[in-house]
Amino acid sequence: MKSYFSTLFTGAWSLILGLKVTIKALFSPIVTCQYPREKMEVTPNYRGHIDLVKFADTGAHKCISCGSCMRDCPSDCIVVEGEKREGVKGKVLTIFTLDFTKCSLCGACVEVCPTKALDYCNDYELAGFTREEFYFDLLKRVEERE
Ligand code: SF4
Ligand code: SF4
Repeated sequence: MKSYFSTLFTGAWSLILGLKVTIKALFSPIVTCQYPREKMEVTPNYRGHIDLVKFADTGAHKCISCGSCMRDCPSDCIVVEGEKREGVKGKVLTIFTLDFTKCSLCGACVEVCPTKALDYCNDYELAGFTREEFYFDLLKRVEERE
């Protein structure tokens, strides 16, 4: 009989202790980020997928269509094409795509670019249902970006 009451008491006591922790947490200030209702500021060092960089003054991208990034990419995920146009010095970029499904974020493309035309974006919400959602048209992105 004594053991029965002792077990009952121990069980009740552990329940009270557990509830104490729960109730204390319930009334404590929230310290976690309530994603997706709240979003944290991304650190400047965050490496999202690569993106074309714009000149701050002209708003034009910095790519000269040299193809170095495409050639140096170990995962073969960049396609760059440019064409010569009358009256324009150098080549005009016509295609710049990235297959992010193959990218290892090694940074070789960013390092090799002679005009510093590439940088990492800070987009971290990249979940998707199909591979195609990770094929990015970087030329279109840079043209649409403010
Ligand atoms: S970060 Fe590396 S793998 Fe990704 S596109 Fe650039 S060179 Fe290719
Ligand atoms: S290395 Fe730089 S300039 Fe050359 S194609 Fe790539 S992004 Fe453009």
